[in-house]
Amino acid sequence: MEFVPPTAKVYILYLDESGTTVEASYFVLAGLAVFEREIYWFSQELDNLQRQYFPKVSEPILFHATKLRVREGEKVEEPWDSLTGQMRHELKDKIYEIIQSRRGVLFGCAIEKKLAQARSEDPYERAFEDLVSRFDLFMSRVNRQLITENKDEQRGLIVLAESSYQKTIALLGRRLREQGTRWGILHNVSDVPFFAPSKDTRLLQYADFCSNAIYGRYNHKLTGDFDRIASKFDQEGGVVHGLSHLSTDPNCACTACFSRRGRQITLPPA
Ligand SMILES: [Zn+2]
Repeated sequence: MEFVPPTAKVYILYLDESGTTVEASYFVLAGLAVFEREIYWFSQELDNLQRQYFPKVSEPILFHATKLRVREGEKVEEPWDSLTGQMRHELKDKIYEIIQSRRGVLFGCAIEKKLAQARSEDPYERAFEDLVSRFDLFMSRVNRQLITENKDEQRGLIVLAESSYQKTIALLGRRLREQGTRWGILHNVSDVPFFAPSKDTRLLQYADFCSNAIYGRYNHKLTGDFDRIASKFDQEGGVVHGLSHLSTDPNCACTACFSRRGRQITLPPA
């Protein structure tokens, strides 16, 4: 069953994480913000892919980027073992195509763990706070536009994949709601956050693919999947607001760092 928010007229940001293993140098929290009416269409697209690739499986399959990245010759779990390596690759590409073509806005935060450690920050909490703030700024822009069109304002909701961080993030969410982020008070994001199981929420599965592509870009310098969806990051007038890269390299020239250096905004430097 798809997660349905209790209020009408909302934008929902679905987030999932990558890089939680000890070996990972990067931690990534990322996902897609979609207008409520789009949820159905996104979900349909994954349901269709499941019917096409797994015609015999009636239970919803939890689509997970890493399961589709397993190379030929490596151990493949059920039900992915019913596909050839080429089919898994093709299926992964199709999911990125959906993210690229449907109406959704990408948000992501990639944190070099070394940096978080040096600052005694928890990467998950830092990334969450960063994204809440970016999503709130995005909602401000959406609402400014709606007001000029004499339309009702919209609220932002955040839905996270259930994880071991649930309790910490629930508390942090409440604090951010009451006291704002380190960059200011939130105006448009309400009651953060909700938690939902990825297996029941197709949009959280897309969030997994988003965060996995960003993780690949920063942790392994694999740009293929990242480049396909990079144009979907929240941006305005050529400035990318939806992606942040917190790294020990002050000269990094990635999209996020390049964009950050070129603008004067209220967010602090990485
Ligand atoms: Zn960078």
